[in-house]
Amino acid sequence: MKDLSSFPIRKIVHVDMDAFYASVEQRDNPELRCKPIAVGGSAARGVVAAASYEARAFGVHSAMPSVTAKRKCPDLIFVPPRFDVYRAVSQQIREIFAEYTPVMEPLSLDEAYLDVTENLKGMEIATEIASEIRAKIKQVTGLNASAGISYNKFLAKMASDLNKPNGQAVITPKNGPVFVEALPVKKFHGVGPATAEKMHRLGIDTGADLKEKTLEFLVENFGKSGPYFYGIARGIDEREVKPNRVRKSVGAEDTFSQDLHAYEPARERLQPLMEKVWAYCEANGIGAKTVTLKVKYADFNQITRSKTVPAPLPAIADLEEVVDLLLSPIFPTLKGVRLLGVTLSSLERQTAATEPQLRLAF
Ligand SMILES: [Mg+2]
Repeated sequence: MKDLSSFPIRKIVHVDMDAFYASVEQRDNPELRCKPIAVGGSAARGVVAAASYEARAFGVHSAMPSVTAKRKCPDLIFVPPRFDVYRAVSQQIREIFAEYTPVMEPLSLDEAYLDVTENLKGMEIATEIASEIRAKIKQVTGLNASAGISYNKFLAKMASDLNKPNGQAVITPKNGPVFVEALPVKKFHGVGPATAEKMHRLGIDTGADLKEKTLEFLVENFGKSGPYFYGIARGIDEREVKPNRVRKSVGAEDTFSQDLHAYEPARERLQPLMEKVWAYCEANGIGAKTVTLKVKYADFNQITRSKTVPAPLPAIADLEEVVDLLLSPIFPTLKGVRLLGVTLSSLERQTAATEPQLRLAF
């Protein structure tokens, strides 16, 4: 692999809204301000989709079962999500991004990568662009955003977490490799709990440990992700910021540290996955007609169950209904379930309204 100096230096900004859903709820309802709130779930069931910083202080975080969250924080207030509002705010922040660059890749409603190497304002300094964007977001939406600035996507994403909330950080080409060496691999973007556990078993706990492994070793153990891990251990990430990705499907899956045997926990684990794929579709104005549930058993046998509806699913509740339909017949099962996944396909653009407007700005 080439070394860092052989790449043209890109300027990438990763913008990430702070506790997005929760902050929108606190903005719109003064009674929720300065209080521990959870968006999504209820005191009895479901999972937390987003937690306010006041709730995080109690150890509440997204994807946590609501029951656990309530136990950690007895005063926790559960607020139902309002995706139409989050989508509208998301549109506002994208219009701000579009003032700076067309090379923008949203990751979800509240996060995006921007390539500002060449930008519409002719600004030299990427950290200044990030400050301006955050100030405009605050002015237009009343909400705080954090930003990471670096020379590739991986480091920009890691940097946006460094001074959160309401802060920004830069990782320079000089600092990148050193930063990665000191970083625990479980904090890497792209390393989930299952991969982190596997790395730990292989003696890889930090970027420095990862850097000691050969490319062959990483490919052997992590397949297609091997070259990616090999690169990022050296502060190298060649992935481009891809604007307006046209995708055939959008999916999310999760491998569990303990096998599941019953419907209820399985349904609970699927909730954040559904929310993730739904948020992606919402963020990109995409409708989906086909839902596929993937189930991998403890013995590594895998099945998929699909259902296609005549018109794009109108709301996440409809997606949940279809997933329930596909999931229910799987149980009871003698074999434990080690992985669940949800994929949406038969995608179509839903609202052409916002897209041309963004293009006009160029
Ligand atoms: Mg965020």
